Amino acid sequence: MQKLEELPFDNTYARLPEAFFERVNPSLFKAPHLVSFNPAAAQLIDLDPDEAKRPEFAEYFSGGRQLPGSEPIAMLYSGHQFGQYVPQLGDGRAILLGEVRNRQGEKWDLHLKGAGLTRFSRDGDGRAVLRSTIREYLCGEALHGLGIPTTRSLCIIGSDEPVIRETVETGAMLVRLAPNHVRFGSFEVFFYRRQHEHLKTLADYVISEHFPHLVDNADRYAGLLMEVAERTGRVIAQWQAVGWAHGVMNTDNMSILGLTLDYGPYGFMDGYNPAFIPNHSDHHGRYSFQNQPDIGYWNIRALAQALSPLITQGDVHKAPEMYEATMLHHYAALMRAKLGLQESQLDDDTLTTDLLALMHAGRVDYTNFFRALGDFCQETGANDSIRDFFPDRQGFDRWAERYRARLSAERSDDRERKARMNRCNPKYVLRNYLVHRAIQHATQQDYSEIERLLGLLRDPYSDQPDMDEYAAPPPDWGKGIVVSCSS
Ligand code: AMP
Ligand code: MG
Repeated sequence: MQKLEELPFDNTYARLPEAFFERVNPSLFKAPHLVSFNPAAAQLIDLDPDEAKRPEFAEYFSGGRQLPGSEPIAMLYSGHQFGQYVPQLGDGRAILLGEVRNRQGEKWDLHLKGAGLTRFSRDGDGRAVLRSTIREYLCGEALHGLGIPTTRSLCIIGSDEPVIRETVETGAMLVRLAPNHVRFGSFEVFFYRRQHEHLKTLADYVISEHFPHLVDNADRYAGLLMEVAERTGRVIAQWQAVGWAHGVMNTDNMSILGLTLDYGPYGFMDGYNPAFIPNHSDHHGRYSFQNQPDIGYWNIRALAQALSPLITQGDVHKAPEMYEATMLHHYAALMRAKLGLQESQLDDDTLTTDLLALMHAGRVDYTNFFRALGDFCQETGANDSIRDFFPDRQGFDRWAERYRARLSAERSDDRERKARMNRCNPKYVLRNYLVHRAIQHATQQDYSEIERLLGLLRDPYSDQPDMDEYAAPPPDWGKGIVVSCSS
């Protein structure tokens, strides 16, 4: 385990052409203090967790000191926001401090979000508020706990610095970890500027760092695109299966590694509603829960277009199809697993969609229903506690009869099935009201709720004694909380 000053940096992105980034240092935060530290993420970079106890820790991650070997840069990218191309975005309030190689040879970006102004800040102030850093910190770890590919977070550093949003809040910085922060928009910027040599350099870089098996492939750029399409299809299928909406699936928020990236106005659904829109600035619901699979397709098309100087027209068209096939296949498999089915049958799709329609009509709690379905009893048919989720009891009875027949056709054993279902139907998810409560406490300098959620969500599939209240649907005050983009 290493000390902060011993972290071995290997800053590969900073060795790319200067046009790819701006060299810029984080700007100092007054009176920084540690809000939360995540030992699980520290392990990824072999960082000794005791390092968080040193007073210098907060200084290193709030612009007060520079880590030896780091080479801070703000990355250039563009992207499609709500369907419109914006020629230049870039890290407007985040700075890549550098890349640490761990003992396994894995590379982790240390990305400081809220680090101050860069060339790409446009009208923004370069800052992040405590509220939004807590939201990103907790949800990254929550999705990781669920087994969904995502960026991670090492810590939150708070400060007294006022930051103006809809009200005056306090600023904070988040240290985000990911194997890289390359976005679809990182390619789009060079395509639309017709800088095809940079486009090729970036593609070669991503291939050699992250898809080394493609290096000697004559069709390596098409190979890269197809793998990104597959990864994107898988991650979006996972979002759909756990009932999570990202909120701002602009192409600048789409990771080339298929990670969940840039947590803003996201949300887990409580009652099932496919039209769920977590982002209150998304007036037309472009990024509603049910639109995510189609937006994934749209975004892969945008990436294929950006890579078009390097690949054939055939591959440009093939990538979205590849995405769609992967997403549908993976989603169907995940939903079968949520229902505890082990075989694949032709009418599984209708079994799932009919259930979802009933859940929608009754706004049935998505997480709690699937967890409860593990208790479904074929033998006695005594399934009242599950039936009670539905206002339309007869509707559920009709569905339950089909489900029972389907289970019996594959000779499903109830006990064994329940154990299996509990491994894919989480008991705890990061419901909006839980984050909201953690944020309210944190603004009073009480960070205990953050720690509790971090521990809970590390293992969302296990029953955790004394934590039952965290599985409850929202109380009245916590229903329909909307989250704004301004963070
Ligand atoms: P986001 O919606 O957070 O993915 O951000 C979209 C773009 O706006 C990115 O280029 C961000 O860096 C930039 N941005 C967002 N918030 C700020 C801010 N407070 N200051 C400067 N740039 C920002
Ligand atoms: Mg973003």
